[in-house]
Amino acid sequence: MPDRRPLIAANWKMHKTRAEAGEFLDDFLPKAGGLAGVDIAICPPFTALATVSEGCEGSEVLVAAQNVHAEDSGAFTGEVSPPMLVEIGAWGAIVGHSERRHVFGETDDDLARKVPATLGAGLVPILCVGETEAERDAGRTEEVVRRQLEADLASVPPDALGGIVIAYEPVWAIGTGRTATVEQAGEAIAFTRSVVGEIDAGAAQAVRILYGGSVKPANASELLMVEGIDGALVGGASLDPGEFLAICEAVDRGPT
Ligand code: PEP
Repeated sequence: MPDRRPLIAANWKMHKTRAEAGEFLDDFLPKAGGLAGVDIAICPPFTALATVSEGCEGSEVLVAAQNVHAEDSGAFTGEVSPPMLVEIGAWGAIVGHSERRHVFGETDDDLARKVPATLGAGLVPILCVGETEAERDAGRTEEVVRRQLEADLASVPPDALGGIVIAYEPVWAIGTGRTATVEQAGEAIAFTRSVVGEIDAGAAQAVRILYGGSVKPANASELLMVEGIDGALVGGASLDPGEFLAICEAVDRGPT
């Protein structure tokens, strides 16, 4: 059995000032220190990255951005580059979140550049894929997830694929309170792993695949014990330190 360490990542979206981020850490970090069997990452807005990065120093909690540009520098007003994230102490970056794709028009072509650029800078990309409700209703879930994965990973060297994180996030379950059933999540994640396996069999065993979409303390244990699900990308419930801690505890394997 592959030994993939669980990962729970907090996507704070456009929430929390620096002061609020500091208050979260004051509450969360002392309690999270006891969780030895789960990786935890916090993805704050750009403005709070330094606060969270500095606040997490000396803890095991990782820091990631919610977006990143593919170029190192240039005339790209409003964007932030991979080396800038590295300098601030980031471990990774979410790429291709459905809000980036559907609200800001990010395309698979953009992501095909962002994923290797992120990896090339030494950051872990958390690549989000997933179908809309209309696509699921039309029976197109696998077609959509395959298209996204094949396009977004096209320029990643196969021996680097195992080092990325993929988040399967059905768009209809994000921020809606609707959660995929364990069967839906398990099937889509097994399919996601099989597509990675078509590119590289070893990478399919190594790559961590998260579920995202209205994960809460009440449903975390059930979802996260599904075979092949290596953790969660959590939006709304990650804003509260107690709720986020409860989700991390649901997958903590304890000391090894
Ligand atoms: C997300 O933003 O990636 C997400 C899964 O949000 P929520 O948990 O609020 O559905």
